[in-house]
Amino acid sequence: MIPFSPPRMDQRIVDEVVDTLYSGWITTGPKTKRFEKLLTQYGGHKSTLCLNSATAGLELVLHWFGVGPGDEVIVPAYTYNATANVVVHCGATLVFVDSCEDFNISVRAIENAISSKTKVIIPVDIAGWPCDYDAINALVLRDDIRSQFKATTKEQEQLGRILVLSDAAHSIGGRYKGKMAGNLTDITVYSFHAVKNLTTAEGGAICFNLPEPFDNLQIYQRLNIKSLHGQTKDALAKNQIGNWRYDIVEAGYKCNMTDIQASMGLVEIQRYDEDMLVKRKHILDRYKAALSQYKWAQLPTYETPESQSSYHIFLLRITGVTESQRDQVIQEIFRQEVAVNVHFVPLPMMTFYKSLGYRVEDYPVAYDNYSREITLPVYYDLTDDMVDEVVRAVVNAVNMVMKQF
Ligand SMILES: *Cc1c(COP(=O)(O)O)cnc(C)c1O
Repeated sequence: MIPFSPPRMDQRIVDEVVDTLYSGWITTGPKTKRFEKLLTQYGGHKSTLCLNSATAGLELVLHWFGVGPGDEVIVPAYTYNATANVVVHCGATLVFVDSCEDFNISVRAIENAISSKTKVIIPVDIAGWPCDYDAINALVLRDDIRSQFKATTKEQEQLGRILVLSDAAHSIGGRYKGKMAGNLTDITVYSFHAVKNLTTAEGGAICFNLPEPFDNLQIYQRLNIKSLHGQTKDALAKNQIGNWRYDIVEAGYKCNMTDIQASMGLVEIQRYDEDMLVKRKHILDRYKAALSQYKWAQLPTYETPESQSSYHIFLLRITGVTESQRDQVIQEIFRQEVAVNVHFVPLPMMTFYKSLGYRVEDYPVAYDNYSREITLPVYYDLTDDMVDEVVRAVVNAVNMVMKQF
């Protein structure tokens, strides 16, 4: 069986983790701080806070911005549920919008969904392909949209407009018009979950890139405290002589990253562009070369002269199939010992979101993308032979199912 997404593992990662295990300090400490510095240099944003997940990062930012009951947050219907669940946790109202043919959020749909209650927009770089940030950033600055923004907290007043919070769980290393995912908008969140491009088993990071007059280092410190119970000193700082006394300034959360996790990330970030991204691009190019001869194969865009994906996953669509025919194709692919997946089932099709009153019929592009989509495996250890085997399995499966209709 060709697995879908095993993590890349080697001796360098093992050695770095073992070094931490024997170092006398295994939770948040020097390695997490070093990983944060390297991530800041890599993304080109202003500061980075590492956490135990991207989900925690998204939620902390919403809390920091003061998002709560009565506020609206715009989220694509086509995403992983974490993007939407955090809005529910804050007690705010979710406003789902439709996608474009490239799987990313539709800027026109965002524009139509903005109201005087909108506080945050969360675009998602699906498969690592950056959204159209020039258009999204310009939208929130537009006079008529800015003038209907109602600030109810100090942070909202300082920004004076809707916050753009990028869900870059897929897109670390993605580029848009020469800039990296991380400094394309106000705040960006990466995920280092086990199936993502750069993994720490579980983990995430907030990239701060807020405009003047915000002090991104100060906000880093505030959210660092928020991620550790609202405690003014972390365990490492309290270890220093004469430094045991601390204060609690708010009822914070507990979502810090450990140095064990950071060890894995430290190794990966230092070879990410030259090694991981090169490998992933090679796999996508090979899929593209092999599949482009088939009329039924609709291939994803993952690079243009202006923008490059982080090559996270390969979103194949089959032209002219129904959802149940697509399901049959997936069944046949699995029968040929290849694991594939679907990214994503639109959230309005899920029980919980249906219970909130959302209907998938209102997101026709998201549904069309989903209903014809099959995600092919992309990971560091996937060899050329394995890619060819995946292609063979997909072609056989499509031929088999096509014969029946
Ligand atoms: C994986 C993922 C997340 C959540 O990441 P965690 O680090 O597991 O919290 C959020 N959004 C998208 C689009 C994802 O794919």
